[in-house]
Amino acid sequence: MVLARFKQNNTLHYGLVEGDRIRTIEGDIFDPEFVLAGQDQNLNQLELLAPCIPSKIIAVGLNYTDHARELGMALPKEPLVFMKPPSAVIGHRERIVYPEGIGRLDYEAELGIVIKKPAKDIDPGQAADYILGYTCLNDVTARDLQKRDGQWTRAKSFDTFCPTGPFIVTGIEPEGLMIQLFLNKEIKQSSSTKNMIFSPRYLVSFVSRICTLFPGDIIATGTPSGVGPMDDGDEVEVRIESIGSLINTVSRRNIG
Ligand code: MG
Repeated sequence: MVLARFKQNNTLHYGLVEGDRIRTIEGDIFDPEFVLAGQDQNLNQLELLAPCIPSKIIAVGLNYTDHARELGMALPKEPLVFMKPPSAVIGHRERIVYPEGIGRLDYEAELGIVIKKPAKDIDPGQAADYILGYTCLNDVTARDLQKRDGQWTRAKSFDTFCPTGPFIVTGIEPEGLMIQLFLNKEIKQSSSTKNMIFSPRYLVSFVSRICTLFPGDIIATGTPSGVGPMDDGDEVEVRIESIGSLINTVSRRNIG
């Protein structure tokens, strides 16, 4: 299934996408027996939102062998996790705001895991039952602040620093997907999720032993090699095989 969220007549809805059509879902996507309502509509005429509202985003640093090699760093023995606040989430085609006083703003293409039901202390072997699906995510980072602060909260947490979507795709295997980033249509990152050091299922288990994961929570699974800076007016696209293409533009002006 391909799931989306949209706004219509000032009301928020989830929808089931088939090609360029979308059917409204009654209730929410975390109910395994959700029902469809109304007529289908043209997807391209709707304002898509980030596909879910997480209570938290847990992100993983250094989770690709190619990225660790690029940085000349040893492979981590356990996942290095940090958080991004839900207030940073924006959807497909929304603007990434380049904050004033930041020296370098980087993109990071990542596979996002969307949680289906409360998960606490689960084993990797059970993790698939707790995953609703997968989405594209851009772990936008103020790289100079990340280095200067020593811890990452400020660098990772500005409003608009977590583009997510456009869709949550269910029923796919997360290993072996091509993951790419394009900056102004030029390819900058290209790898496969098979190069992850810790698999999505392992990460769900690992994080669930720290904090309870709730429906809609997102785990950002780290970025491959090729991270780099963005500037005012740039268009940035995260593209993941079988999931979709998340496009945002960067603006230094905080308008609207
Ligand atoms: Mg990252």
